[in-house]
Amino acid sequence: MAQDLLFPRRCPICDRPVKPFGNLICDSCRQVPEPLSGEDCLRVIGEADHLFARGTGAFLYRSIAPSLYRFKFSGREEYADWYAGEMALAMARVLAPPRETLLVPVPIAPGRMRERGYNQSALLARGIAQRTGLAVSETSLLRVRETPPLRRLPAAERRKKVAGAFHACGDDVKSRLIMLIDDIYTTGATMDACAAALLEAGAGEVWFTVLAMGAPNSDDQRIPRQTDDRSGGI
Ligand SMILES: [Zn+2]
Repeated sequence: MAQDLLFPRRCPICDRPVKPFGNLICDSCRQVPEPLSGEDCLRVIGEADHLFARGTGAFLYRSIAPSLYRFKFSGREEYADWYAGEMALAMARVLAPPRETLLVPVPIAPGRMRERGYNQSALLARGIAQRTGLAVSETSLLRVRETPPLRRLPAAERRKKVAGAFHACGDDVKSRLIMLIDDIYTTGATMDACAAALLEAGAGEVWFTVLAMGAPNSDDQRIPRQTDDRSGGI
């Protein structure tokens, strides 16, 4: 792309201009993120009752945490292209969704949207739609209430905090298979709250695909304290 000549694309792993030029990720960084295995996926989802029927992710959270942090908090929207490609591959391989599937990104609250300038999940959903030809809806599921950061809370608390935070509407979802798209899955509290709203609005079934999965209260959850543009200098 001509734009890449002026603003070289940064690698989602090392954050340096991608080598070789024109790729989405450095050849040497491609092996860094750990792909999520079927067993990893089951371990993270656990045995709790969930409202979604199936789901998968591309990577183990701990192996891609610094990248994800920059994507969400340091304005690295450009990573979405590579992320979406990896998510589309994992989704096709593990879930093989039918063509009528509707991609629905997990929405963020308007306040957070203004602060960040983008919904990271919507960027991922658009990228997956481009690669798979599946339809995407960014208006079928809304966040009606802002939720506090859930990262340090136990599963039961997360569930309470996020219950009723979403509302689904529109004929798009009726009797349809919905594929929720988000950046990270931890306890599934957010995914269940989204699924509850979608099922209430008449969705047939709810599946999910995320970039990364990690079990709560484990090393998977470490958020690296590195390049955070917001901290700045004095
Ligand atoms: Zn790199």
